[in-house]
Amino acid sequence: MLPVRPKGRPGARIEGGTPAELGRLGKSDRIVAQCLLRRGPVAQAVLVAATGLSRPTVTAALARLTGCGLAEMMPGQDDAAPATGRRAHRYRLTARAGHAVGVDIGRRHINIVIMDAGHRQIIRLDSKVSADADQDPWPVLKQAADQVQVALEQAADVSSVLGIAFGLPVPLTRDGLVASGTLLPAWMQVNPRRELAALLPGFAVHVGNEAALGALGEYTFGWGEGKRDLTYVKLGTGIGGGMVLGGRLHRSSGGPTMEIGHITVDYQGRRCPCGNRGCLERYVGGRELLASARKDDLEIEDIPSLVWRARSGDAACRRIIHEAASLIGVAIGTLANLSGPELIVLGGSLSAAGDLLSQPLRAAVDQTAFAAVTSSMSIEIARLSQWASACGATALVFDHFTESQS
Ligand SMILES: [Zn+2]
Repeated sequence: MLPVRPKGRPGARIEGGTPAELGRLGKSDRIVAQCLLRRGPVAQAVLVAATGLSRPTVTAALARLTGCGLAEMMPGQDDAAPATGRRAHRYRLTARAGHAVGVDIGRRHINIVIMDAGHRQIIRLDSKVSADADQDPWPVLKQAADQVQVALEQAADVSSVLGIAFGLPVPLTRDGLVASGTLLPAWMQVNPRRELAALLPGFAVHVGNEAALGALGEYTFGWGEGKRDLTYVKLGTGIGGGMVLGGRLHRSSGGPTMEIGHITVDYQGRRCPCGNRGCLERYVGGRELLASARKDDLEIEDIPSLVWRARSGDAACRRIIHEAASLIGVAIGTLANLSGPELIVLGGSLSAAGDLLSQPLRAAVDQTAFAAVTSSMSIEIARLSQWASACGATALVFDHFTESQS
């Protein structure tokens, strides 16, 4: 948890964002600034390659951006390129260029990250959902909007808010409607973006699937450095995922994508709220793992407790995770055969099991997928742990802001 710095009157509401200085730049400066906003700190050579601008044009743009205080140089280390002795200076935007607010709304938690345009986390705030998210979406959305205000009041020197993005544990259509009542039946056909925009007047509000945002978070701030593609699998109460291809979050034409939890593992199997039978989530979703524990007379109330007991050596808890990992590995192996991912990142509360999860999962993937697919594929545990989706939501804000200025 980062330090909390109280600011402003208790209960004071922050309305909308002041217009961003980034929106008033000339063309080449804007292109370089947009690249920095999306990528975070990078070397000048990366900016030249990514923007297609000439080196002198990028040099001039960086001089203007640093001159007006919107960007800064981060001196390189002597050991960055020991063979040549050259320092790899990097550039990033400053806090003056703006901030993004990312919110991850779960069934039980609301995690908020405020990130500045230079990809520095200004604040993290986590809270428990006080209402029953399964029954009623409205109090949860209201609490999330209120917590955004609390986070903005606590963050010092938030100059301008480029946008606020919310990750939700539901499949969303392209129009922003909740497309299926798989995890939260009461949220079916709710338009969370419209509701949240009404609660946060003046702000640019965006929504996305939280697992998809986890992919964007890990790509932008976690495992993605130097990678073109990343596949993220979130293992918690629900099972979902997201795919970044060529640096962009993949979206299907209809909206929902990477619904890994609804891969059929037994077509005559258990009924799933999605209307299908035998979905993966009905066997290894969080509720099912806790039900397995109860069958073994274990009193375990949530997945973090299951993971903690497994890591402490509890054989029954280890077996539950091992068996789940094997079935999840079969599903991911199928996915690997279809898409040939370079890197799979495991997130969600079950991923805290580390090797207890990833080793049997990797063995099942290797058994299921072609060796030619898996030989160059790595599987890692998420670096951002439970903050992946909130961080990804800030990256979504940067994406939307960039697109709105182009
Ligand atoms: Zn299903």
